[in-house]
Amino acid sequence: MLNAKGKTRNVIFITFDGLRWQEVFYGADSLLINNDEYTKERNQILEDYWADTPQTRREKLMPFFWSTINTEGQIYGNVRKGGAVTLANPHGFSYPGFSEMLVGYVDSTRDSNDRENNPNVTILEYVHNQPGFRGKVAAFCSWDVFDFIINEERSGILVNSGMEPFEGKYNGPKIGLLNEIMFQIPVPWKSVRYDAITHHFAMDYLKQHKPKLLYIAYDETDEYAHEGKYDQYLIATNLLDEYIAELWNWTQKNYHYKNKTTILITTDHGRGHETIDAWRNHGSLVTGAEHVWMAVLGPDTPPMGEVLDNEPMTSSQVAATIGAFLGFEYSNEQPVGPVMNSMFYDTKR
Ligand SMILES: [Zn+2]
Repeated sequence: MLNAKGKTRNVIFITFDGLRWQEVFYGADSLLINNDEYTKERNQILEDYWADTPQTRREKLMPFFWSTINTEGQIYGNVRKGGAVTLANPHGFSYPGFSEMLVGYVDSTRDSNDRENNPNVTILEYVHNQPGFRGKVAAFCSWDVFDFIINEERSGILVNSGMEPFEGKYNGPKIGLLNEIMFQIPVPWKSVRYDAITHHFAMDYLKQHKPKLLYIAYDETDEYAHEGKYDQYLIATNLLDEYIAELWNWTQKNYHYKNKTTILITTDHGRGHETIDAWRNHGSLVTGAEHVWMAVLGPDTPPMGEVLDNEPMTSSQVAATIGAFLGFEYSNEQPVGPVMNSMFYDTKR
């Protein structure tokens, strides 16, 4: 069903796996950046990401977030300042988190990271089934379980994930090279490829195929955190910010996307904070894993910057919000989380 249309014609939905709100809003953590176990090349890391004030630290870590998004868009989830964005699911790990945001409700059967097809329809599949959207929805994901979370098989959506080469119709030399080096650079993780590969596949697809709904799921932040590599976690975060800048700046120079594109960014879970080691972990027993954050930038969104004391929001509201940006009143077999109205100028949704 079509809703009152805003200016958005295209949505780029992005997730950073397990990036904490603490780093988003306060930059590098003083305890972790000064810990010998977690930060090895300290001099360079301090030079790149440390500063005396948290404001400067976050600007050094995520310059695009804290310049462009903070002035032209909105950023939610600063727990210390009343920014309440949480998971509705009780698990605090990836598959249930991604399913919640993409489907719009918590399905209690989604309780593991197993490679098992999602019985629920996602907002991606819903949009793909609308007139004019077939073949205009695609997903590029570093983690290979997304084939199942999105149910590539049933939905018919292009889901390129994990160590999967990109076999596009009109692959240029760049994609050919990426397909080759993906298998030549040793990857430390079995089910995850490097985010740079995912990013370049997605950028190239955007340029060649002009999708109306593009999902990009980056992953390295979660892997480095689990491994206890705080230095790599910071570097990966900084690169993610750079990728978003590249995506956004490209859309604003392209006829199909300029002033018609909304970018929505979030994460699938938080991480612990109660002890020095807690940042490495997440899950139902880890305090803090329920806290997530969101950032949004586009022509239908009032520029509010860092939003404090917002109405409590959950990840289950993402699906309907993506739908609303594209002019759809998204519904599913079960009631879905409501549209996040504060992300729109027109609140009669
Ligand atoms: Zn995760």
